[in-house]
Amino acid sequence: MADVLTRRARLLGPHMTTFYREPVHLARGEGTYLWDTDGRKYLDCYNNVPHVGHCHPRVVEAIATQAATLNTHTRYVHDGILEYGEALTAKFDHDLDSMVMVCSGSEANDVALRMAQAMTGKTGVITTDNTYHGNTAAVSQLNTSKVPIGGFQDHVKRAPAPDNMMPPGGTREGQAKAFAEGVKTAIAELEANGHGVSALIVCPYFANEGFPTLEEGFLDDAIALVRAAGGIIIADEVQPGFGRIGSHWWGHQKLNFAPDIVTLGKPMANGHPVAAVITRPEILTAFQEGFKYFNTFGGNPVSAAAAMAVLNVIEDENLVENAKDVGAYAVGLLKELQTRYDVIADVRGSGLFFGAELWRDGKPATALCDAMVEEMRNRGVLLHTEGRFDNTLKIRPPCAFGRADADLLAETLDAAFGAVA
Ligand code: PMP
Repeated sequence: MADVLTRRARLLGPHMTTFYREPVHLARGEGTYLWDTDGRKYLDCYNNVPHVGHCHPRVVEAIATQAATLNTHTRYVHDGILEYGEALTAKFDHDLDSMVMVCSGSEANDVALRMAQAMTGKTGVITTDNTYHGNTAAVSQLNTSKVPIGGFQDHVKRAPAPDNMMPPGGTREGQAKAFAEGVKTAIAELEANGHGVSALIVCPYFANEGFPTLEEGFLDDAIALVRAAGGIIIADEVQPGFGRIGSHWWGHQKLNFAPDIVTLGKPMANGHPVAAVITRPEILTAFQEGFKYFNTFGGNPVSAAAAMAVLNVIEDENLVENAKDVGAYAVGLLKELQTRYDVIADVRGSGLFFGAELWRDGKPATALCDAMVEEMRNRGVLLHTEGRFDNTLKIRPPCAFGRADADLLAETLDAAFGAVA
């Protein structure tokens, strides 16, 4: 292992991140399980990329068959992207029936920002004060974890991210108003500095903000303000999308709002690099008139086949219902643990995207949360942290996660809390 880490640091750079103090050196995966190079088995409770389960045979078969038939760049006509795009956009309401296929969530958000500019003629962007949307030069201006070289530019303004334990505005109910107030201030600043408002971009599950519990309508006032200022709404569904949250296919359906643009990525093709931007025809037209855009790999025949297989498996294996059922069951198990471990301050989530926020002595228990992640890893269960203080255990497994997996997760959490807390 030491040799591999040395090679990795030399080749990929010393700051190339790995999870865990003792990184997991993987060899293979199947369903909700992973095996390392020593043959040790891990329950994967974190990986949202292999959405339908690691190495799902139907996705593997679709990739292999298409790769053996044809793969090429995207300037030829091919049925794959059309069949997939029609099936995917059928999952959306609000005239969201046009699509650009790309290769990563970052690219999708980059395209979405440019669509908003082209549609509105403005350049200002509003997001939250604790977020991540990807890593192109334009998109990384939105991220809060690291100040970019040269600092943040003044076309990005932020509203206070909702939070279960420390809600802006003082109460959980009051934070929709606090968020709208923040958006109002941001709009005034962008109008004063000449940018104007092109878009509000948010993950509708506020995944990177710590996935707080929000009611339907949470964004309504903020959205009305953005629209009145001439801006449009981008829903970044890279994390909650494709039925993970159990109650709905998309996060924006849960909050019950109508985005103008939706961006998709991670789970879309079970690990094959596929992402997309879904929008209305007039926004796509404005984008194509405003920018020359071409993506060599986006929606190529193999990518389209992989994504189509994922969509079919979600349907055929009832994975949205599974996420709802097993997610609710697992949250129930975590709530039972909460009655026995007072460090568990909050248990929350929807479908197979849930977790537990840890506090001790009236403060976020960041170090304890980190120790839990390490302890779980050493006990063969992989999960990670999230939130402003990284004090929330984030659990977001493949959507093939079953009740027996949830039982193993809860038993291991019980043992780990016993050892660490
Ligand atoms: N949006 C969100 C909400 C994300 O969490 C991420 C990645 N963590 C991205 C976009 C970027 O996706 P990618 O890494 O595929 O570029």
